[in-house]
Amino acid sequence: MELEIIEQRENYIKFILSDVTPTFANSLRRMIMSEVPTMAIDEVIIIENTTPLYDEIIAHRLGLIPLKTDLNSYVRSDVCSCNGQGCTSCEVSLTLEKTGTQEVEVVFSSDLLSQDPKVTPVYSTIPLLKLAKNQKIFLEAIARLGRGMDHAKWQPVSTVSYKYFPVVEFNLDNCTYCGDCVQVCPRDIIKIEDDKIKAINVINCSLCNQCVDICELDAVNVSTTGKDFVFLIESTGSLKIKEILLESLKVLKEKTQTFKKHVDEF
Ligand SMILES: [Zn+2]
Repeated sequence: MELEIIEQRENYIKFILSDVTPTFANSLRRMIMSEVPTMAIDEVIIIENTTPLYDEIIAHRLGLIPLKTDLNSYVRSDVCSCNGQGCTSCEVSLTLEKTGTQEVEVVFSSDLLSQDPKVTPVYSTIPLLKLAKNQKIFLEAIARLGRGMDHAKWQPVSTVSYKYFPVVEFNLDNCTYCGDCVQVCPRDIIKIEDDKIKAINVINCSLCNQCVDICELDAVNVSTTGKDFVFLIESTGSLKIKEILLESLKVLKEKTQTFKKHVDEF
């Protein structure tokens, strides 16, 4: 197995995972989506709300704010030693209190004050609601660790996807260099230069097969290696990409170990 990073930014990564089975690639994707825990607001106690938005809408919006997550300091409340009662190991309280002083005032995610400075909104500029003059919002929000399998608000990523690594080949005996495949390719993969046809930046190929369909001479062939995958992960910012990958592999390992334990007991 090999891993080659193609592109990496703060909350984004594109890499090639080589020499693995489709099953492994999909397991990794599913672990990331549904098993890696993050913090999200799970309970909202509305103390005062004189804004035009219903309590439920505000609570729903609060739930979807990505929160910075510290996996070393918190555990999920369903496995916490407090038995789900709520304690400092499984819950963080955030408060929001604001009264409109101008004609129109926007309440942002930065107005949420957290009990733990390590658990705060990833982005400070998410608009939550608007206040007219003298309208008031006062609430307490409880954030908990949870998993994407229970609610999408706990997913650590906005996107995790993969595709087979494309292979574009030409049968030069049949090719007349008519350029139809060059014209039809939506990703500009195919180039004809100096009576030579070639595929460039093959990684961008979406396997749409339009080049194959348009060529009546069967000179183009698009396939995959079947064992190499182009992965794309976009984090919500709750966790770093590296943390997401390491945590997903940890869960996958734990699951296989538990399975092995059961098999051993046969
Ligand atoms: Zn607890």
